[in-house]
Order: sequence, then C-alpha cells, then structure tokens
Amino acid sequence: MLVRKIKCPSCGANKVNEITTGFIFCDYCSTFMGYDFKNMQDEASSVYDMDYFQKHGSWPPDTQAYMTVLQEIGTAVANENAELYLENIVKMHELEMKLFPKRFAPKLKMSKYRDQMVEFYRHFWKERLEKGYFEEQKQTQQMFAELQANITTETVNYKPVWVYDEKLEAYFDAVFAYSKEMAEKVSSYDCLEYYPEPINNAYTEMVLKQSINGYASYLDEETFNKVLDHLGLKTEYIEIPEVNTTEQNCFGCGAQISVPEGSEKMICEYCGSTNNIQAAGVVCLNCGGNVSPDEARENNKCSFCGAILRIMDFH
Ligand SMILES: [Zn+2]
Ligand SMILES: [Zn+2]
Ligand SMILES: [Zn+2]
Repeated sequence: MLVRKIKCPSCGANKVNEITTGFIFCDYCSTFMGYDFKNMQDEASSVYDMDYFQKHGSWPPDTQAYMTVLQEIGTAVANENAELYLENIVKMHELEMKLFPKRFAPKLKMSKYRDQMVEFYRHFWKERLEKGYFEEQKQTQQMFAELQANITTETVNYKPVWVYDEKLEAYFDAVFAYSKEMAEKVSSYDCLEYYPEPINNAYTEMVLKQSINGYASYLDEETFNKVLDHLGLKTEYIEIPEVNTTEQNCFGCGAQISVPEGSEKMICEYCGSTNNIQAAGVVCLNCGGNVSPDEARENNKCSFCGAILRIMDFH
C-alpha cells in the first residue's frame, strides 16, 4: 500500500501504524507529524446515520443542527451577510468537534484546547470576511466549477470516476496553485496569534503537501499516483516498510496499542496519554515526568506536578 512518507520532524522515523484519526503522531517519539485529510473527509460523510433516520424519521439532533447551520451559511453567502456567516461558521466548527471525534483526536478532546480553537476560528473568519471573502469565493467557485465540468468521467460500478488526462492535470494544477496562494495569504493574517500551535514555514509546507491526500477518496490508486507524479509529490509517498510491532496495553486507559520495535514514546489514540515505552509509564503532559501506570490509571494525576494526565474530558 502506498502511503505518505511522513517523516517525523523530531526523530526522522516513518509512520508505521495505520493512521486512524485526523492527527498523525510519531510511533517512536510521539511528536506531531501532521494531518490526515482523507480520514477527516471519510468521517465527515458518515454523520448521516441512515439507521437512525429509518428508526426516528429524522437525523440525530447534532446532525440536524449541523444541516441547519450549513443552510444558514448558504443563505449568508447568497446575501453576502457577513454577520450571519460569522455566527454560523463558528457554530459549524463547534458542531464538527462534536460530530467528528476522530477528526480531532486526541488533543481536541481537551475542552480547554477546543475553546482555544473556537476562539481562533472566530478571529480567522472575521478577518477573512473583512478581507473580501465573498467576492473571492465567487471567483474561485466559478473557476473550479469550469475546470470540474471539463474533467472526463467514466462510470465504474454506477459511480462517476475521474479519468486521468490533461484536463485532470489542469484541475489539480489549479487546486495546488490555489492552496499555495491561500497558504501565503493566511500566513500574514493577524488572527494567527490565536492559533494554539506554533506556525512556521515548515508547518505551512507540510499542510500544503498533505492537503492533496484529501483527494485520495475520489480517485483510484493508479490515477492518484499519476496525479502525485504530475505535481512532483511522488517522493512524498512510499511503500510502508515492514516493521515488527508488539501489542501492548496503554498505560493510561488500558486500550490495546501496536508498539513498533525501538519505540520510545507513543500517544494513545483513545485517551491521549503519552506512553513512555522504555520506562513503562505515562509521560506527564505538563512537566514531562514519568508516572507509573498504576498512578496514571487510578488517580489520572502526575505525581510530580499534579497535572491531569489523560485527555478524557471530551463531551
Ligand atoms: Zn519521532
Ligand atoms: Zn490510552
Ligand atoms: Zn507533571
């Protein structure tokens, strides 16, 4: 299987374990490695729970609220109503954090961190709207609609599939150029001071390269490879290497995790604990101290500084 060659910025290791959430962490040293946009999209399409709908005759309440918010956003765009747009786009982000727990795991499971993100979104959209978002959107949408209408499609198993030709190349050239332009634009925004993570050029480049992964769901593997080749991104992707792993229980919550040979620290995708593999314990998020598994499970507090260890206050 072809996967992204996401090298850990800290220890240089490749990602070994399957990526199950929107956030990617190193399996060897627990450093943040970037985002998985494909996982994010796949989860987004799963909120429309058909079983629930058939049973209750309506969508689950949060899904219903989400649809209402999206409708309001559409109205705001049609009427170029910045106030209505801002109110609903912030609501949309808040609802998405509830509806898509995998997209935001594990750090966004902390309510304090979530609040910081919402605050960032509020400032981000305010600034974007002030800088002519509606007009810019109109032009961008028109451009992409024309390029998309040009793409050659084929029907495979009753589904339209994009065919690789120069029209598809033109489409992805435009997608990539637009992403680059946006990244440059946003990098000068004042609102970035509210972003809870450090942002530098390496971060922007990483997001840009990884964003193309969001299209993996729409293309078959062969076509996706050709697109990568065309964009000069093929070297960013590699065959996953064979690595010996052992199954262990998370020192924080007890869930089963796959630990690759030589790993020192791993983040548990379920509870957010940083497992110190070598010293058998949980690494405190606050002071870096190594806390015993018993202490972590029973008290959920660092024995050195008293900080909460596991991210479990998601609700
Ligand atoms: Zn690492
Ligand atoms: Zn855990
Ligand atoms: Zn501590």
